[in-house]
Formats: sequence, structure tokens, C-alpha cells
Amino acid sequence: MAKKVQDALKDLVSLCKRRGIIFPGSEIYDGLANTWDYGPYGVELKRNIKDLWWKKFVASRSDIVGLDSSILLNPKVWEASGHVGSFSDPLVDCKVCKERARADHLLEEKLGAGAVAGKNFTEIAAMMRENAIQCPKCGSKDWTEPRSFNLMFKTEIGVVEGTGNQVYLRPETAQGIFINFKNIADNCRQKIPFGVGQIGKSFRNEITPGNFIFRTREFEQMEMEFFCKPGTEQEWYKYWKDFCMEWLSEIGIRKEKLRIREHSKEELSHYSNGTSDIEYEFPFGWGELWGVASRTNFDLTQHIEHSKVDLRYHDKIANEKYIPFVIEPALGVDRLLLVMLCDAYDIEKTENGEDRAVFHFHPTVAPVKAAILPLSKDDELMSVAENLYKQLLKRFPVEYDETQSIGKRYRRQDEIGTPYCVTIDFGTIGKDGEDKRGLVTIRERDSMKQDIVKIENVESYLMEKIYPTQP
Ligand code: ATP
Repeated sequence: MAKKVQDALKDLVSLCKRRGIIFPGSEIYDGLANTWDYGPYGVELKRNIKDLWWKKFVASRSDIVGLDSSILLNPKVWEASGHVGSFSDPLVDCKVCKERARADHLLEEKLGAGAVAGKNFTEIAAMMRENAIQCPKCGSKDWTEPRSFNLMFKTEIGVVEGTGNQVYLRPETAQGIFINFKNIADNCRQKIPFGVGQIGKSFRNEITPGNFIFRTREFEQMEMEFFCKPGTEQEWYKYWKDFCMEWLSEIGIRKEKLRIREHSKEELSHYSNGTSDIEYEFPFGWGELWGVASRTNFDLTQHIEHSKVDLRYHDKIANEKYIPFVIEPALGVDRLLLVMLCDAYDIEKTENGEDRAVFHFHPTVAPVKAAILPLSKDDELMSVAENLYKQLLKRFPVEYDETQSIGKRYRRQDEIGTPYCVTIDFGTIGKDGEDKRGLVTIRERDSMKQDIVKIENVESYLMEKIYPTQP
């Protein structure tokens, strides 16, 4: 299994490194396992994904506002949320080769999702034996008993080591929203139903990180907590599941690669009355992309108990106070980026029978929107091309490339998913007949079709194609 997974992702990982999308972390010091750095194109992709999410889930909605809360919170937050007591996974070690694994993952791989739902550690240990679970590395079936492993990273606040207070790096951004609920409800005049969205880094000391950027210990999340009146939560739960699925299609993810997996009753957290995983079919199989959960009033109730602050919502029109229910769509930025890479990547044949590696990114998502390619190194031609390049650069990321054959330049742009290539040739400068003066050729990446466009219209042509109706 491990080998197959590595092979399936190998091409993508090496293309990402070769083309400056994602680099292995700390590489000049022999690396640091499962850490990744986003290169020049990767950072643009990531920014586009976050901008699109923010626009769709926050900026374009009158019922949702944004927040940027701290990574370090008072440790009592994590006691109240249950993370100190139970944010842990069942860790097992192979007694033969010392491979470390998550017992729940090993069992789910063999028995299906939700197989260990509601099971305690003794039951999990028995299931490992009954199902003769093998070590993925050496094939042995000899495992240690499962142990609880808390996933929160600890650190200390204070200047002298050992004397400070222990704090945690947040394992999710959501709690920052709950502890600011009252601030937002009171000071920002938000009326229920309303949501609060946040994008930021989260940290989990995962036992088995891997599959490229699918599971890492440091990652970014885009989370939204939608506060609604008790009794309306099922309606909103359905609304947000549909909304999330529609948005994934809008940004170009293939529908047939997505599915919703509703959690069974046994699998639901004790506080949830509905949870779904939106899953994507990765090269290594189906995996969670986005969790949508109806969390009842659990989090706010916990914070009321632990902080002794009244966090109830005051409905002034109905003159009543209540603890709102919450729907939470929680998505990983890096996880969605991996979906984008897997979904858009293809090896195709060109008209001349050559292989071309191409990312079919939605133009709004693509890291570079257009490339300006002068057909020859003629001074006048290059000067026209450079002027167009400088003009477009003010609007969106664009590249200028004058080296090698036009075919090679197209291939280079295909490999990073640039949707449009603009060619400036002798016709453009009137050296190929007056009727072609001022005209350029714009080649579309997917169809490879070419449009002839007046140079003064290139900017508006591209703007319309790249940002048609904002997804
Ligand atoms: P799992 O059970 O696989 O550990 P989870 O169900 O605990 O994951 P959530 O807490 O629901 O995950 O997190 C919300 C979203 O954040 C996930 O759907 C995923 O997109 C992202 N995410 C969670 N953990 C990681 C991670 N270690 N690396 C990258 N993205 C992550």
C-alpha cells in the first residue's frame, strides 16, 4: 500500500519541486520529514484559493464576518473545548520494525470508514488482533497495545526556560471564533443567523503525517462557524453542505471525484447531531477534504461553564436569550490545494504526438494568468511584447518569455497551468502585411485554440476570461 501510494504521487511531487510549486522543507539540512515550503507558483495558488474562499464565504455575504484570532490562546480554552482531555489518537507500535501507526486508520483501511466509531482502547486492541492487522512496513501482526497520544503541540510562555506557563499551538482555528462570539454579537451588531469566518495556521502533532501535503503537522485552515437559532440547525446543516459542494464545482473540481459521506449514529461525536465528510478521490484513495458538522450548542456551553461568562445571545425583538446552535464547515487550505493539483494534472498528447504535462486549473485559480511570448528576438517585436507585459502585470500575474522555440515555451506554461499564451509576431509590428498590424494571437491552454485579438483589447479579453463571474 505504502509503495503504491508513493508511486501515485511521485510524479506530482517531483513536478511541483521542479516547477517551483512546492519544495521539501529544510532541504539543505537533509530535510525535516513531512514539512513543505510553497515556492513562487505554490504561494500564488494558495493565495488564490484563500481569496476565493474568503470572497465566497465572508466578503460577499451580509450574514458572515471575518476574524483573525491568535494562535496562542489561554490554555483554559482547550480544557473547555475538550482538546486537553480527548484530542488524541490511538497510537500503536509494530514490535518487530518499530513502525508507528494509528490503530483507527489501520482498522478503517481494512474494515471501512467508521469501523472503530465509539470503540474504547480495549475494544480497538481486540479488533487489531481479531482482524490480524498487518504492519504496512514489515507485514508483522505483532503490535503494542494502543496508547492515547494527544495531538496538541506544547510550548511555554516566558523568558526563562522551565518557569513559564505551558500553552498550546492551536490545533484548529474554530475555538478562536467561539471565544470571540460575544465580542462579535455585541459590538458588530450581527443578528442571528450569522457566521464568522477565519483563515489561519493550525498545528497537530500527527502520528502518521504523509501523502505529500494531505496530512502535515503544520497546516492552514479555512473555518466558518455559523450561529443559528436552536431548532433551525438541520436546515442550515443541509444548506451549508450544498453550498460547499456547489463552490467546489464552481472552482473547477470534477463532480465525479467528489462524494459526501454522512457519519453514522455510532460515528458521530457525542455533541453532534449531523456530520459529513466531503471526500475526494485522491491517487491513494478517497479521503476527507472538508468536514461539515452540526455541533449543537456544545462549544459555547462549554465556554460558558469554564469562563463563567454569559455567552448567550440576546434576541431583542423576541426578548429572549439562548445559546445558539452552530454549523461548522472546516476545510484545510493545503488539503484543497492538493485536490486542485490532483484534479487538474494530466499528461496529454499534442498535435505533433509529443507528451505535454498540463495543469487544467480554473483561470481564476491558476498561479500565472498569461504568458507574453515574442516569436523572435527582433528589437521592435520585443519592445511591443515588453510593453504589453508591463501593462498586464498591473492587473494579474503574468510572465514574459523569449527563450527557446515557441513549442517549448507553450510546454513550460502548460506545466504550471497558465491558461493563456499571447504571441507577438512580425504581423503585430506590420512586417508581415499591413492587414495584420496590431494583432496578436492568444492560445487557450485546454483547447489549444487560437484567437486573433487587437493588442489594445488583450487586457479586457483576458480579464473577461479569467474573472468571468467570480466563483
Ligand atoms: P482526521 O480524522 O483525518 O485526523 P479530522 O476529521 O480531525 O481529520 P478536522 O478536525 O475535521 O479533521 O479538520 C478540518 C479540516 O482541516 C479537514 O477536513 C482537513 O481539510 C484539514 N486538516 C485537518 N488535519 C489536517 C492535517 N494534519 N494536515 C492538513 N490538513 C488537515
